[in-house]
Amino acid sequence: MLFMTPNVIKNFLSKKATRLYPFEVREPFEGYRGELVNDIDGCIFCGMCSKKCPSQCITVDRTTGIWECDPYACIYCSICVEACPTKCLSMNNVHRKPAATKSMYTLQGVPPKPKKKAADTAEDKPAKEDK
Ligand code: SF4
Ligand code: SF4
Repeated sequence: MLFMTPNVIKNFLSKKATRLYPFEVREPFEGYRGELVNDIDGCIFCGMCSKKCPSQCITVDRTTGIWECDPYACIYCSICVEACPTKCLSMNNVHRKPAATKSMYTLQGVPPKPKKKAADTAEDKPAKEDK
């Protein structure tokens, strides 16, 4: 007991190390990766984020224009943000809110127009007139 007394007195007199959450919320620090967001208007549905994601929690559907992420499987590593060619992915420095039920982060964008096949392109071109 005597051995512990200085420690007890020191802790009793020093500032508290804990906060009374949720009444006192800690300010997020710079570069904090709290929430993944996608500015869907800038998304070209290339699928690079989905390919690079180590958690495989992103699904990109080029035909329907749906971009989806499972925020409960995401480990907030930011690899997708670095890999995105259009920089439409970013991290918010806010704490993700707790939830009672799981839900997906689903966004609907404008799907890219399907590429024309070489044969189709040739058909579209007007035939050359014989001279
Ligand atoms: S932050 Fe990491 S784990 Fe989360 S979606 Fe992006 S690549 Fe996947
Ligand atoms: S990498 Fe960026 S542009 Fe490509 S599908 Fe993902 S979010 Fe969209």
